Amino acid sequence: MTSLEIEIGLAPRVEHECPQCGSTRLRESLVKSAFWQDDRLVVVEDIPAVICEACGERFYDDATVTALDLMHGDGFPAGDAASHMHVPVFSFSHRIPAELVQLAEAEE
Ligand SMILES: [Zn+2]
Repeated sequence: MTSLEIEIGLAPRVEHECPQCGSTRLRESLVKSAFWQDDRLVVVEDIPAVICEACGERFYDDATVTALDLMHGDGFPAGDAASHMHVPVFSFSHRIPAELVQLAEAEE
């Protein structure tokens, strides 16, 4: 392979396109995301992401995904938390139609 071929191979950098909707309206931002670890809910903020302004989908690069996996593997130690927040918990039970509740009880 000549150097010319290498240049041609690398030069035409494809514009980023949302794999979800095909939009090119993508922007980089720091985002906040919630993760479950067993019964524990944790929030990670300042995660670098690319956000599609058309459909709202978020994308993370491989290094970010790996770092999040490592944080998950470490068990999100409480001592490492930057801050704590209280999270309201709502029950959906009163919105479930009575016939579905009866159906679920019948299956038990
Ligand atoms: Zn999109």
